[in-house]
Amino acid sequence: MSDISTRAREILQRVGAGDPFTGDGALHARSPIDGSTIGRLTPHSAGDVEAAVGAAHEAFLQWRSVPAPVRGQMVRELGELLREHKDDLGALVSIEAGKITSEGLGEVQEMIDICDLAVGLSRQLHGLTIATERPGHRMMEQWHPLGVVAVISAFNFPVAVWSWNAALALVCGDAVVWKPSEKTPLTAIACHAIAREAARRAGAPEGVVQLVLGEREVGEALVDDARVPLVSATGSTRMGKEVAPRVAARLGRSLLELGGNNAAIVAPSADLDLTVRGIVFSAVGTAGQRCTSLRRVIVHESLADDLVQRLTAAYETLPIGSPLEASTLVGPLVDEAAADAFVAAVEQARADGGTVVTGGERVDAVEGGTYVRPAIVEMPEQTEVVRTETFAPLLYVLRYDTLEEAIALHNGVAQGLSSSIFTLDVREAETFLSAVGSDCGIANVNIGPSGAEIGGAFGGEKETGGGRESGSDAWRAYMRRATNTVNYSTELPLAQGVEFL
Ligand code: NAD
Repeated sequence: MSDISTRAREILQRVGAGDPFTGDGALHARSPIDGSTIGRLTPHSAGDVEAAVGAAHEAFLQWRSVPAPVRGQMVRELGELLREHKDDLGALVSIEAGKITSEGLGEVQEMIDICDLAVGLSRQLHGLTIATERPGHRMMEQWHPLGVVAVISAFNFPVAVWSWNAALALVCGDAVVWKPSEKTPLTAIACHAIAREAARRAGAPEGVVQLVLGEREVGEALVDDARVPLVSATGSTRMGKEVAPRVAARLGRSLLELGGNNAAIVAPSADLDLTVRGIVFSAVGTAGQRCTSLRRVIVHESLADDLVQRLTAAYETLPIGSPLEASTLVGPLVDEAAADAFVAAVEQARADGGTVVTGGERVDAVEGGTYVRPAIVEMPEQTEVVRTETFAPLLYVLRYDTLEEAIALHNGVAQGLSSSIFTLDVREAETFLSAVGSDCGIANVNIGPSGAEIGGAFGGEKETGGGRESGSDAWRAYMRRATNTVNYSTELPLAQGVEFL
C-alpha cells in the first residue's frame, strides 16, 4: 500500500469514518498526486437513493419543528468538529482533489466560516410585516422549512460546496442528501461521519444528513425524486442543462452553480505589481480548477507587453509538484482527461492564431500524476476555444483600446460567474460595476475573480445557472415563504373593495 493510501486510511479512522473500503467495489477512490487507487467502494443503487430520501424525509418531519436556534446547535457542533479535524480533512482534500496544503486547509476553513454564519443566521430567519389595505388586519410573511434538499457537488470543492448548502439547509430546518463527485468520495465519507457525530451530539434526528455515492445515475435518481423539493447542483454547465429540465418537469426547484469563464480587465492606470499577483493567484491557484479561476485577461494595448512579460516571469518560477510538499504552488489536474483537455485547448488556441507565451505541456512532476505547466496564450480574438471553459491553468490574453470594447469582450461569453477590473480610475471601476458593466454574479475591483468570502451571495448568471449560495440572503432558497393575513377585527372587508354577501 502506498504512503498516500495509508495516510488517507488513517485520516478516515481519526475522523470516525472507519474503514469504508470493499475489495471489489466499482467506485475507485484515487489520488491525482500519483494516480494511485486508494481503495474501492461500493456505489449506492437507485434503491439505496430511494431509502436515503425516505429516511431524510422522516427526519425532516421532526427537524422542521425544532426551533431554528436549537437547530443551530447542530451546526455549531459541526463547526467545532471541523476545527478539531481541520488538518486531517485539509490533508484529505489535498490527497483526493490535489489541492496544495494551504488551499486544502483553506477549504476546510471555509466550512468553519459558513457554520459560524449559519449559527448566527439560525436566530435571524426573518420575514416581513407588510402594510395591509384592510383595517383591523395584519399581513406578514413567514419562512418555513422546505423539506429534503439534494446536494450534488463537483470534485474541485469536494467539501466546501456541501457545507455551503448543508449548514444553511440544516438551520433552515431541512434534511440533506448529498451526492458528491465520483472523483472525491473519501472527503465526502469523512465529512459525513463528522456531520453524523454533530447530529448525535446535538440530539438531531439521525437521518437528517444522508450520503449517497456513485456516478451520475445516483444524481439522476435524486433529481427525479418528487420528495426532494430543492436540488442544489454544482458542476459543469453540461450537467446543469441535464438536471434543470428534469427538476422542472416535476415542478421542483433547482439551485444551479455551473461553469465560469472569468475575466479580468487591466486598465491603463492599473497598479501592475498588485495586478500581476492578483492574476497569478486567480489563474494558477488550484491549478486553474476553480469555477472562479481567471481564464481571460483583457488588457489595454498600452501595457499589454509589459504585463505579459511580468506574468511570464512569474509563471516561470512557479513550483509544480506534489501538493503535499510545502513549497508547491501548482498541484496536479484531477485526472488524465483533464490534462488531455488542457493540451487540446492549447493546440486549438494555436490553430486559431494564438501565440503560446509560456507553458502548455505535460510535466512529469510525480510519477503517475497528471501535472501540466500553466500556460499563457496571447489571442488575436475571442475564438470558440476562448469562449469555452477549459478546467485547467490556461490563461488567454486579449488586447483592447476602449473600455467599451473591453466590456463587450468581457461579457461576450456564455458564462457569467465572476469578474474583475484592475484600475485606479474611479470612473472605470464604477462603470464596470454598474448595470452596463460586468454581467456576472460577482464583480471585483483590484482583486482577481477567485477566492470569494462566505459572507456574500455566491453564484453567477447566464450559463452559470443563476443560483446563489452561501451568505447574504441565500438562505431563502432553502425555505418556503408563506404570506399570512390575520383579521383581528369584527368586520370582513374584502381586498380591492370587492362586495360579497
Ligand atoms: P461535473 O458536471 O462533471 O459533475 C458534477 C456533479 O454532477 C458530479 O457529482 C456528477 O456525478 C454529477 N452529475 C453529472 N451529470 C449528472 C446528471 N445528468 N444528473 C445528475 N448528476 C449529474 O463537474 P466536475 O467536473 O466535477 O466539476 C467541474 C465543473 O464544476 C466546472 O465546470 C466548474 O466550473 C463547475 N463548478 C462550479 C461551481 C460554482 O459554484 N459555480 C463550483 C465548483 C465547480
